[in-house]
Amino acid sequence: MAAIDFSRRDFLQSAAAVVALGATTTKGQEQQTPRKPPSGSVVISSANGLRATEKAATMIAAGADTLDAVVAGVNIVEEDPEDNSVGYGGLPNEDGIVELDASVMHGPTRGCGAVAALRNIKTPSSVARLVMQRTDHIMLVGEGALKFAKAHGFKEYDLLTEKSREAWLEWKEKHSDKDNWLPPPDPPASGEKRSDASRPIAFTYGTINCLALNEKGEMSGVTTTSGLSWKLSGRVGDSPIVGAGLYVDNDVGAAGSTGRGEANIKICGAHTIVEMMRGGVTPTEAVKAAIERVVKFTVEKRLLDSEGKPNFDLKFYALSKDGRFAGASIWSGGKFAVFSGGQNRLEDCAFLFQRPQKS
Ligand code: ASP
Repeated sequence: MAAIDFSRRDFLQSAAAVVALGATTTKGQEQQTPRKPPSGSVVISSANGLRATEKAATMIAAGADTLDAVVAGVNIVEEDPEDNSVGYGGLPNEDGIVELDASVMHGPTRGCGAVAALRNIKTPSSVARLVMQRTDHIMLVGEGALKFAKAHGFKEYDLLTEKSREAWLEWKEKHSDKDNWLPPPDPPASGEKRSDASRPIAFTYGTINCLALNEKGEMSGVTTTSGLSWKLSGRVGDSPIVGAGLYVDNDVGAAGSTGRGEANIKICGAHTIVEMMRGGVTPTEAVKAAIERVVKFTVEKRLLDSEGKPNFDLKFYALSKDGRFAGASIWSGGKFAVFSGGQNRLEDCAFLFQRPQKS
């Protein structure tokens, strides 16, 4: 699929189509489009999920359940200390503690489970699946989630790698000159390594979302993250919120997100996208319309650049029951991982705004 720079006009057209379809849906006259599954599985993921799509597709080909497959796929990234946006090695909260969020949905059984602000467990997606399978609840948070994970035999680890601790310490020492944390002397007394002073100490986002469809038309999804770096302790993003960071309807399709969770929660992005697809909107049009809605809902001055555009990014991914898929982001340059037709690759996300060229 080629990159699609969707113009404002396209957006307005797709939004108009969505409004029209929404009107028929409320009257209970959903558009009946044929939703035959494709021949061969389709797995899509955020750009950091190439290993996840490969693993999940291989497992599905060998007969695994779609949820087991996507969870095994994202487990690879959760356990990888080099990915600082997910699981072990994720960037911590403002206190230097890694807190993880995750959700899962299993299309065939209509099951879902989630954990939020979970500490010390490398694979929160596996815990979320157990919340779905082994409790009468949907979401466990904080200490309760950890207690539950330990009851099921999960081992505790310090999730803060040296690399993530150093990044956190640098943020802590540089983000204010009105507190008692001082950066190392310049030049450093010892051979201590730091990024150059011009590096902005920004909040960073990052997550993995993975959605799968098998030949029988069964669908599942997972979203897992360490969330926004340097967040307030206890902050929960969109990833574990069913309907925001993830939604699966086995009759229609699945959607998920990565990026600024606060912006997504306000529009219940994943559910919104699946509902649009239910009305007959293509995955591409649905993710584009959801991005447009996020931009419309972003009115806070502190979140807008000098041209009035969001100063953050958010991406949506969608997979329909018939195997079509798409990704879209606010800003250009986004990619997403796709396994389909026996091939694993990155594709371009559609986007609303062209990122300014770096001078
Ligand atoms: N959506 C995640 C959150 O807000 C972070 C991300 O995807 O970058 O917690």
